[in-house]
Amino acid sequence: MRTPLVAGNWKMNKTVELTRSLLAEMVPDLKSVMGVEKVVCPPYTSLLAASAMLTGTDIGLGAQDLYWEPSGAYTGEISPQMVAELCRYVIIGHSERRTYFGETDETVNRKTKAALANYLIPIVCVGETLAQYEANETAEVVTHQIREGLKDLDREQTGRIVIAYEPVWAIGTGRAATAEGANQVIAGVIRAALHEMYGQKMAEATRVLYGGSVTAANAAEFFGMPDIDGALVGGASLKAPDFLTITKAAKKPSY
Ligand code: PEP
Repeated sequence: MRTPLVAGNWKMNKTVELTRSLLAEMVPDLKSVMGVEKVVCPPYTSLLAASAMLTGTDIGLGAQDLYWEPSGAYTGEISPQMVAELCRYVIIGHSERRTYFGETDETVNRKTKAALANYLIPIVCVGETLAQYEANETAEVVTHQIREGLKDLDREQTGRIVIAYEPVWAIGTGRAATAEGANQVIAGVIRAALHEMYGQKMAEATRVLYGGSVTAANAAEFFGMPDIDGALVGGASLKAPDFLTITKAAKKPSY
């Protein structure tokens, strides 16, 4: 029912030239993987070049952030309309943005609404820190992030949302969550919160990805879980063969 989605978050990596060479290596094999929605999210400066290379393929393009205002005196920011000119997807509330750039559940909520209003597919990131994990606060923290980050959304637009459960302690550390542990949070906390807010249909239909040290070696374990619908991949998305292996692993058995 839920089409798997694998998105690569390139973070602050790759110049335009390096974007072109990575995509030249990646696209031919990636575009032949059926049954999985594939997305790459390079830095803003590479979006135009990436868009040209992805035109005519089934590989989607995403930005790593946006600002909620449509235009104006917001030096350094990029509006939803600007993102939507080139992209179909946008990552919102990544833990690095929350940690280094002061993003909060309130800004996540504004950005998510702005993305939806501009027909983008927001990939909204949630997840607990190591201290919260060790204090057994995962359920409380993630429930709060979902309730506040996704509150008061236009109900007709909620069908487009994708959520990424990314425990902060697993991002870029090589210490992935266990597949069972991630599935438990996604089913018991994230889908439960969506159910409470928007009903059972929305809770069941929403795609929830896992992110945090996903590799070519461990991806299949995550995708074998009933509530994990794909992955948001950082480091491994910068290596064409690894990203291809991860994407292929996300295919449902019927494909
Ligand atoms: C991320 O940046 O969203 C991420 C999950 O990074 P990594 O795969 O490198 O842990």
